[in-house]
Amino acid sequence: MEILIVGAGLTGLVAAQALHRRNLSALVVEKGRLVGGRLATRGLGAGQADTGAQFITARTPAFQHMLAEWEARGLAYLWSHGWADAAGQPQVDGHARYAVHGGMQSLARELAQASAVQINVKISALSPVRDGWQVMDTQGRIYAARAVLLTAPVPQALTFLETGRTPVHAADLDLLRGFSYTTCLTGLFLLDRPSRLPEPGAIQTVSPKVMWAADNQRKGISPGGAVLTVHASPEFSSANYDAPEAEVLAALLHEVKPWLGPAQVAEARLKRWRYAQPNQTHSEASLTARGIPPLVFAGDAFGGPRLEGAALSGLAAAAALANLLH
Ligand SMILES: Cc1cc2nc3c(=O)[nH]c(=O)nc-3n(C[C@H](O)[C@H](O)[C@H](O)COP(=O)(O)OP(=O)(O)OC[C@H]3O[C@@H](n4cnc5c(N)ncnc54)[C@H](O)[C@@H]3O)c2cc1C
Repeated sequence: MEILIVGAGLTGLVAAQALHRRNLSALVVEKGRLVGGRLATRGLGAGQADTGAQFITARTPAFQHMLAEWEARGLAYLWSHGWADAAGQPQVDGHARYAVHGGMQSLARELAQASAVQINVKISALSPVRDGWQVMDTQGRIYAARAVLLTAPVPQALTFLETGRTPVHAADLDLLRGFSYTTCLTGLFLLDRPSRLPEPGAIQTVSPKVMWAADNQRKGISPGGAVLTVHASPEFSSANYDAPEAEVLAALLHEVKPWLGPAQVAEARLKRWRYAQPNQTHSEASLTARGIPPLVFAGDAFGGPRLEGAALSGLAAAAALANLLH
């Protein structure tokens, strides 16, 4: 195999497709049991909720093109042109926000169809060999590749590079150690009837503790029941990251209570995102490690925050790998 891609989030999946178009073979390996990474949707009762990314925006022609293609294929649809504010007033700014039929994870599942992807594979070590890399996973399986693309959040990638003693140049290591991410605590609440969240079923910046609340039924991805996604603010998330689940859920529910009307919570779950959004963006959309066989880093920390940055980074990484290998 020519390229091993670590991580089946949007960055890795977009990169795999772009490499395929350049006639380079790639295998994507993903530690989770589902593809998508932060493109995630989970079921709750008869309903479901997007638990990570909530909507897609496109600011660059390259990503507008990709999004238009997803829309044409019936994957993405226009959700709104703005959210309500904390007072429930619509704030329409003209920018289009898209959602994904069936939830965000469906987009990842669909993109993964076109590539070779293995789930439940957690990479744990990377060693340079004469013609590329020998890569090992936590089950002791070995993969050989001419080049490796790392799309895991940078601290996760550094963990196995450092424990596996991969000879990454000191200057690259210094740079990579500088990346940090916000955390996010996400409450999911199954309601016994629709919420009273204002149109279009979502509020941005609910309070200092809650930065987002959305009703997934009103969004159009949960016909079986009203499930709220409530994202805590970065400040609340970092201060309460390890707090007991019941305590965090009660605090988040308290913040959105005014928008529930007579609805009662039938079930609640907490998702803790350790690497939610990068605190800084690298100056280039991908990073090629120096002095070792082809090793490229990519992800939203390189291409820019949000799904758009991840997709652009995937494209940039594929171009960098094609240059290195041809
Ligand atoms: C709560 C939240 C809300 C967000 N809201 C929005 C939004 O509304 N709009 C928007 O545009 N963006 C949003 N984002 C950001 C967006 O989700 C990310 O920018 C994007 O999904 C990042 O994609 P990625 O492929 O770079 O990383 P990820 O999706 O994190 O993918 C990396 C993958 O690598 C895998 N991995 C890690 N280590 C290993 C290993 N050792 N071996 C194998 N696999 C490994 C992980 O399991 C993961 O699947 C949000 C993110 C969060 C968390």
